Amino acid sequence: MPTFQLDGKELEFKPGQTIIQAAKDAGIDIPHFCWHPSLSVAGNCRICLVEVEKAPKGMIACATNVSEGMVVYTNSPKAVHMRNAVMEFLLINHPLDCPICDEAGECKLQDYAYKFSIGKSRFDEEKNHKDKRVELGPNVMFDQERCISCSRCIRYCEEVVGDPQLTFVSRGEKVTIETFPGKQLDNPFSMNVIELCPVGALTSRDFRFRARVWDMSHTDSVCVGCARGCNDEIWVRDNIIKRLIPRENMDVNEYWMCDHGRLDTYRFVNDETTRVNSPMMREEDVSADNDGLRQVDWDDAIARVISELKNYKAEEIAFIASPYSTLEDNFVLQRFAKEIVGTDNIVYIPNIQGEDARMLIRADKTPNSTGLNLLGIEPINMKFIDKILSKQIKMVYVMNDSIGRLERTDEIAKSIEVAVLQISNFYEHSRKATVIFPASSYAEINGTVVNFQNRVQRLRPAVASLEQERLPGDFAVSRLDKFGAHNDRWTKGMRFNTRPSWKVIQQMAKVFGNDFGYVNTEEVFDDIAAKVPAFAGMDYESIGKLGVTAGQAEAVTA
Ligand code: SF4
Ligand code: SF4
Repeated sequence: MPTFQLDGKELEFKPGQTIIQAAKDAGIDIPHFCWHPSLSVAGNCRICLVEVEKAPKGMIACATNVSEGMVVYTNSPKAVHMRNAVMEFLLINHPLDCPICDEAGECKLQDYAYKFSIGKSRFDEEKNHKDKRVELGPNVMFDQERCISCSRCIRYCEEVVGDPQLTFVSRGEKVTIETFPGKQLDNPFSMNVIELCPVGALTSRDFRFRARVWDMSHTDSVCVGCARGCNDEIWVRDNIIKRLIPRENMDVNEYWMCDHGRLDTYRFVNDETTRVNSPMMREEDVSADNDGLRQVDWDDAIARVISELKNYKAEEIAFIASPYSTLEDNFVLQRFAKEIVGTDNIVYIPNIQGEDARMLIRADKTPNSTGLNLLGIEPINMKFIDKILSKQIKMVYVMNDSIGRLERTDEIAKSIEVAVLQISNFYEHSRKATVIFPASSYAEINGTVVNFQNRVQRLRPAVASLEQERLPGDFAVSRLDKFGAHNDRWTKGMRFNTRPSWKVIQQMAKVFGNDFGYVNTEEVFDDIAAKVPAFAGMDYESIGKLGVTAGQAEAVTA
């Protein structure tokens, strides 16, 4: 491989690479605002100016190809002077309103101002004032004064989404961005411009002013909005999710996620009005105000389900597994159905809507139907529904789903004598259940899901529930960690009285004399890896932050 020198270090480069790319490959970050690895090169912010030996002027690292033997300095007096001058220029009209800016704490301009600016300006005149509150679209707010005209947002819409909705208007100090006449920034991926924007010019209308980034912790997770399983970070303050943002995984979602995934997959976790916060049980003497359901403790609810299970023959009992739940929850449910109850009546309800989008969004609106197929759990079919309608199946145990998603719901509901629900939130019809177990949501548990590419990915607890499992590898980090002031999400805020579904099912198995013996979720996964060939050889460590692909071996049941 050819080589060049960067700040005295000999680095290899691939022919055709620019200085900034070759440095990045070597783990060296040259300051940049307008450059982004997924976008075309604009070369307009100039902060990446470097000194190149024998070149008469500074060169921008994002648009200068490396050549054999080239000698580049990013920290020579000349390079530092050029960077300082660019910072002074960019800050001339910048409002410096960091104390009220959502981006503060994660802003490139702020970081570089601390690192590279001389800390004073020669500009004594009145700053240029512009509109600070432009609604670019339903989800994105624009502050014109903060914009440094890097054009990342414009190029993203054109080049990544393929929907050019933004453009520059005017010139010089008057320049700003706008949507085209009569258009809004409303593509399904519009909110990615928020993280792309290197300053606080583009902010989330959902998250604006709701928390400072240094008051929150963030945990690596996976979006559960569809079968893509975009890697994301869950940001939490006082045990309440404040925002989801994408996490880079070049094999799954690159740098992006869709607006639906960001906005619609966290609110139900926070929603005190719909969260199930106690086991509930139907009793005839309880007032109709409460739909006949009474709050009970865990032991009473479990005892009631066990007694109902004993009232029916194995073939009269059915289990609805969940493509919204983890492999671990579904595997333990499957073991319970087969080994304890002795029935093969276990299926799941698919959720396919429309077609796969050109970018990210999948027609399969569940995060784990692939995982269920690999476990050998099949989608529900007419034969199964007929068994319910003809009352051959009399008791149904539904984990993290709703039979309301089936056609002929009312007929099906009337045919069922006993319905046990293990759910995180109430929904229409759920109050007709015989017993309800409060289930921890995806944001409160450890576990794995398998996306449409067969990629096994980890969920981690970002929010604490009353009975929290904490594995040694669990981590949430905060912007304050670097100052040693870790924001411990486990000690603050309200907690729901929920349990991971597999733990409740194991507790029931124990009463039947067959304790599966799992101490934590990781042990459940280890058992899956031992019994299901598709997952052979995997463990939580090998899945890591970015996931691994499950083998193509034929699925077998536990
Ligand atoms: S709004 Fe942000 S991303 Fe768009 S041009 Fe301005 S600084 Fe760049
Ligand atoms: S594409 Fe799917 S997985 Fe990705 S953010 Fe959107 S809903 Fe979530």
